[in-house]
Amino acid sequence: MGKRILVTGGLGFIGSHLCKRLLKEGHQVVCLDNLLTGQIDLLGELSSDLNFRFMNWDVVNPIPIEEALDEIYNLACPASPVHYQRDPVKTTQTSVLGMLNVLNLARKNRCRILQASTSEVYGNPMEHPQRESYCGHVNIIGIRSCYDEGKRCAESLCMDYHRQYGTKVKIVRIFNTYGPNMSKDDGRVISNFIVQALRNEDITIYGIGEQTRSFQYVDDLIEGMLRMMQTADDFTGPVNLGNPHEITIRQLAQEITRLTSSQSSLYYCALPSDDPCRRCPDITLARKELDNWCPKVELNEGLQHTIAYFKQILCDETV
Ligand code: NAD
Ligand code: UDP
Repeated sequence: MGKRILVTGGLGFIGSHLCKRLLKEGHQVVCLDNLLTGQIDLLGELSSDLNFRFMNWDVVNPIPIEEALDEIYNLACPASPVHYQRDPVKTTQTSVLGMLNVLNLARKNRCRILQASTSEVYGNPMEHPQRESYCGHVNIIGIRSCYDEGKRCAESLCMDYHRQYGTKVKIVRIFNTYGPNMSKDDGRVISNFIVQALRNEDITIYGIGEQTRSFQYVDDLIEGMLRMMQTADDFTGPVNLGNPHEITIRQLAQEITRLTSSQSSLYYCALPSDDPCRRCPDITLARKELDNWCPKVELNEGLQHTIAYFKQILCDETV
C-alpha cells in the first residue's frame, strides 16, 4: 500500500517533479505551498490524480495536518538568489521557523523527514570539490546569508532533533539543479539564458563568466532524494547530490546559444557580491550510501529537454 507523504514547497520547480514521481509510485501526496515562487499552473496535472491534495499554507506557521504521515520532504524555500534576497527576513523565517514546524510534525508522527539543504552551506568554498566534511566559507553578513545561514541553521536543527528526540532526519545538500518546470522568471542562470537565447535577446553574464557551477538534471536529483529517504533510520547525512561536471558560466552561455541556434550576443554585467567563484560536488558519499547513485543525464541532453520545455512555454504565451 502507498504511503502518505507531505511535500512542502511542492508547487515549486523540484517539488512538482517530486510530487509527480511519488504519485507515480502509488503514494498519497499532500502538497503544501504558499505560492511564493510556486506555480499554480503546475497544479493542473498533479491534481488530476485522486491521491493528490493541495494545501495553501505558509510553513512559518504551525502546520495543521491531523492525518498520519509516513514521510515528509521539506522543500519550502525560495531557491533563486533574486527571490530569496527580495525579502531576506522572510527567507530566514522560512528556513528556520519552517524547519522547526516541519520537524515538530515529523516528531509527532514519528516519521522520516528529508531536508532539502544546499551547496550554499559551503558559501564561497575554499575547498574544491566540496565534500560533506567541509564546514564552508559563508559571509555571515552578506546578501546571500539569509539563505546560506538559514539553511545551515535548518541543518543544525535537524541534527539536534535527531540527537535530542530521535527524529529520523535525512539531509541532502543539493547542487545547482535545472530542468522543465523552472519558472521563466525564476532569475537563475539556466532559465535566464535559455529564455534570452530563444528570444534572441542579450545573454546576461554576471562578471566575466569565469565562475563555475556544476549542473544537475532534475530527474537525477529526484532519484537521489528517493534513495536517501529509504536509507537506514540512523543515517542522517548530510549527503551531496549534484553532478560533478563543472563548467564556467561563459561556456554555459555559449552552449545554450549553440543548442538554440540563437542570434543572441553575450552581455557582461556587474557580478553580485559574494557570488561563489567555484562550485562542484564530491559525490563519493552518495555513491557509497545511495546504492551507487550518480547522475545519468549529461548536460547537453538535459539542456535539450529544458530548451524544448521553454520553447513550448514561450509559444503558448504568444497564442
Ligand atoms: P522554487 O522556488 O521553485 O520552489 C520553492 C517552493 O517553496 C515554491 O513553490 C514556493 O512557493 C514554496 N515556498 C517558499 N516559501 C514558502 C513558505 N514560507 N511556505 C510554504 N511554501 C513556501 O525552488 P526549487 O528550485 O524547487 O527548490 C526547492 C528546494 O530545494 C528549496 O528548499 C531549495 O533551497 C532547495 N535547493 C534547490 C536547488 C536548485 O538548484 N534548484 C539547489 C539547492 C537547494
Ligand atoms: N548568472 C549569470 N547570469 C544570469 C544569472 C546568473 O551570469 O542571468 C550567474 C550567477 O552570477 C552565478 C551563476 O550564474 O555565478 C549561477 O547563478 P544562479 O542564480 O543560477 O545560482 P547560484 O548563484 O545560486 O549558484
